[in-house]
Amino acid sequence: MTLPASITPELIARLSRHVAASTDATVSTVEVFTGATLATLPCSTEQDVADAVAAARGPQAAWAAVDPQERMAVFARFHKLVLDNRDTIADLIQAETGKARRYAFEDLIEPAITTAHYLKAAPRLLRPRKRKGMMPFAIQTTELRVPKGVVGIISPWNFPFALGISDSIPALMAGNAVVLKPDTQTALSPLFGVDLLYRAGLPDGLITVVIGDGPTVGGALVDSADYVGFTGSTRTGAEVGAKATGRLIGCSLELGGKNPMVVLDDADLDVAVAGAVTSAFANTGQLCMHIERVYAHESVYDAFVRKFVEKTGKLKLGAGYDYKNDVGSLISTRQRKAVAEHVDDARAKGATVHIGGAARDDLGPAFYEPTVLTGVTPDMLCHAQETFGPVVAIYPVRDDDEAVALANDTAYGLNASVYGRDLARAKAVGARLRAGTVNINDGHAAAYASIDAPMGGMGRSGLGRRHGVEGLLKYTESQNLSVQRIQVIPPPKGIPYGRYTSIMARSLRLLRKLGVR
Ligand code: NAD
Repeated sequence: MTLPASITPELIARLSRHVAASTDATVSTVEVFTGATLATLPCSTEQDVADAVAAARGPQAAWAAVDPQERMAVFARFHKLVLDNRDTIADLIQAETGKARRYAFEDLIEPAITTAHYLKAAPRLLRPRKRKGMMPFAIQTTELRVPKGVVGIISPWNFPFALGISDSIPALMAGNAVVLKPDTQTALSPLFGVDLLYRAGLPDGLITVVIGDGPTVGGALVDSADYVGFTGSTRTGAEVGAKATGRLIGCSLELGGKNPMVVLDDADLDVAVAGAVTSAFANTGQLCMHIERVYAHESVYDAFVRKFVEKTGKLKLGAGYDYKNDVGSLISTRQRKAVAEHVDDARAKGATVHIGGAARDDLGPAFYEPTVLTGVTPDMLCHAQETFGPVVAIYPVRDDDEAVALANDTAYGLNASVYGRDLARAKAVGARLRAGTVNINDGHAAAYASIDAPMGGMGRSGLGRRHGVEGLLKYTESQNLSVQRIQVIPPPKGIPYGRYTSIMARSLRLLRKLGVR
């Protein structure tokens, strides 16, 4: 297999210039389909991270003074550049993740969708808002949105372009600078996104990339940024959250999941099976919102399992920089080992493997077959732990109540799905599920792609939200700016305090009566 012609040494050299690194230390990444070296990139030290945050402060102050509407011109150009450069971005994403090209496309259009949404929404959300002053006419109050300062974005490898760049866009729009720490193996595609932002006219120094070991370089970023937007595992997220809390800075934590799907007895089974296969195996199952548990009503369970296995068998697994494959590689042999451990453990303890359950060295070093299990019990690793691979377990349930109880029997709460023809019933079941996003007659994409509403996790799936109003305003502090136009606090000159208290009490009573307060 040959590397796409768009990935040249000159491109890698250009992208490397966005990395803050003061030493000659380097790190290498691999082309996942083959295991060959893909790129050698500069490696940052802890001091480089602190220096990158300090260096961003000057450009950030100047950027914060630019009217939000004016800032948007950069992002309108960026939106066009992302779509114009989609082939190169997809090449980079595929080379460093090994995912099927259709998911590289999903990875790259997400920042375009997010940018388009906030291009319209951000100027409105960031506008100063008149609030009621304590005393009408006398006190005039405005709520301002002040940028946090320098935001640290820490992102994982599974959607490297989307999760590195999309979370940086609203932070920049809100007047912040960003220091971005991507996963090392998948640094090229977010670096390309940073390059596009500068080509779109983002002023120098507003976004910098740091690369290196997670606890060292990521830890240094949590130690110096003014706010942290973290996406990754629950284990690391808990560490990042504890550290951020210790510094009294805010953070959002987008973490793992063990996402359930409920198939009601009135569901259109063909539609449900198609949705479940897509959401179980999307991105080779390395998608935080993908489905790992399916609860099917017992009256449709047998037919559902049969159709699900049939459809899974038709998926085309393979390597290639084109749209021919449905499912690609896992990110690494390490990830494949973790996935195989879950399946082997389930098999050894008595689960049925209907299809899959094997590595595919003939296709590449980290391929693993889409796998369907039944008979999974609580003593098995894949029962409650996130597998983060192409593995799904299907369970029969007696009724809606049992489906809801089992779906909610998890420490996580990221995403959930319900399939059913009676929408009122499906929505009622969905509303009982403890998950930050719930999709009716879809597995994950309907809620994720609806950027006007927030997404994020309940329970061990995270803190805070991306998208929607929160996805922008979390990168700001609110500031209450109140002007006392007529002197009412403290008492105007010449009015003794005792008299002031009775005037004040009478005024408050009147305001309450008039419904003003
Ligand atoms: P991870 O937690 O190992 O790493 C995520 C990022 O954190 C990487 O850049 C890593 O280098 C960095 N890091 C590691 N240790 C750190 C530390 N101590 N301090 C600061 N930074 C540190 O996660 P991963 O394996 O890269 O990603 C997979 C996980 O991410 C899965 O659990 C998946 O569900 C989750 N995820 C969640 C979402 C979401 O939106 N909720 C999206 C994608 C992935």
